[in-house]
Amino acid sequence: MVSPHPGVDIGTPRCSVTDPPGSSGLHPSTYGPPAGRWPDTTLTYSISVSGGVVVDASGNELTATAVRRLISDAFELWADAWSPLTLTRVSTDASPRADIRARFVGTDVEPDFADTSVLGNASFPPKGRIRFTTTRNFTERSMRSTAIHEMGHALGLTHSGDRTSMMYPWNLRLQTIDQDSRDAINAVYVPWSPQEGLPDRGTEDRPALAAAGPAGFGGSSRELSAVWRGASGDRTIYHSRYRGGSWTAQERIPDAASTHGPALAQYSLRDGTASTGLIMLWKGSGNDSTLWWNVNPGNGTGWTQPHRIPDVGTSAQPALAYLEDTVAAWKGVDGDTGIYWAPQEGAIWQPQERIPDAESSHGPALAVLNHRLYLFFRDPDDSTLWYTSRGAGRKQLWTPRRIVQAEDHSLDTGGGVWITPGSSDGPAAATHLDRILLAWKGAGDDSGIYWCAFNGTEFSPQLRVDDAGTSKGPGLGSLDNWTYMMWKGVSGDNTLWWSQY
Ligand SMILES: [Zn+2]
Repeated sequence: MVSPHPGVDIGTPRCSVTDPPGSSGLHPSTYGPPAGRWPDTTLTYSISVSGGVVVDASGNELTATAVRRLISDAFELWADAWSPLTLTRVSTDASPRADIRARFVGTDVEPDFADTSVLGNASFPPKGRIRFTTTRNFTERSMRSTAIHEMGHALGLTHSGDRTSMMYPWNLRLQTIDQDSRDAINAVYVPWSPQEGLPDRGTEDRPALAAAGPAGFGGSSRELSAVWRGASGDRTIYHSRYRGGSWTAQERIPDAASTHGPALAQYSLRDGTASTGLIMLWKGSGNDSTLWWNVNPGNGTGWTQPHRIPDVGTSAQPALAYLEDTVAAWKGVDGDTGIYWAPQEGAIWQPQERIPDAESSHGPALAVLNHRLYLFFRDPDDSTLWYTSRGAGRKQLWTPRRIVQAEDHSLDTGGGVWITPGSSDGPAAATHLDRILLAWKGAGDDSGIYWCAFNGTEFSPQLRVDDAGTSKGPGLGSLDNWTYMMWKGVSGDNTLWWSQY
């Protein structure tokens, strides 16, 4: 039967979901900032097709059974794309009622549908309401893409500013779930693997992680390493590599000891290839506030003898990154809360410069994104987290500092509340694909570990790493598509723990 309703393909098909209060419109941070999450990933859904019209390519109206099947198949794509999710269809009169309930409504129920370019609408968890319009016909394609998109909202995703994302609101034409949306749903529910302890080793400060190795096909020959200082008065610095899904036995790094955790990064071997080795930087032990560094080219020669950086000092853990050459940053000595930085040029440290507008009581973090160097640091007075950045050129300036601001996404608030996270220690940062992941210990007595993603402009909501606790900040390092976190346990627990993203 030919449908009586006009309207197919009028206007740009779109969704009318409003992003949560406080999050102004679109988020370019494509991890579609979540607006809530279900406490469990086994969910039921129901579909009422009453009032809805879907036509096939010939203009013939699909039967109710076919429409239900079409929507159901679209919803189930989320369960295919993201394995922890189990979706089960139940009847519309099931008791208890389905977690997520989809139906077709007109302008009497949903005034947004007076605009016939609006195809659908949904509520965030734990409401579970999905609405499709009855004021115009759907094609099979528009029905499928609208159903996938609205289910994304019902699972907790807000809009993405990425036009290729299924969660982009003005392009309800995509027929599959893109990688960005998969990453987003994964980040909402299971971002970090369950924590694992390394009971044969311990530390009293933040560990540091970095990947390095010979140039290879697709970077697959690089290897992740972690370094940390010992526990219970043992200030020796230890090194372990991540191989085949576990960490190798710890090895002592000769003549390297610190009261604090070290910094670690890759550096160019300058052998005409993209091969890299490891460079480590640390504050001296005891009253020695000198900054020491050494390298491990990775060719079997091991770590070189430590050298000192002349004329500089710190009372905290330093930071390292690689942007055209090695770059270091550190806080000043004792009561000096200034943050200083210096690049290397051909293995020679250049004179330190103070970073304007940056102060901290703890060690900062460095990461590189889109050929810019980002510095993250904890404010010495109120424990908030801040950042500044600069381009790679010699004449580039550091930008004025900006505060780290993220939505709180705990179950208590249901999302939509903007906060400025605080920490009792310095943050950690690592570049993960096209974003920087930032992680930090909570403020004051809060031993929780929190994290968010940063795209150079905006931060995704703050999430807590399940079950993890620490008395110091964590360390972060990335290898290929994975980011690894390592941290010491809560107060009284010197065990090293780790997880991967
Ligand atoms: Zn939408």
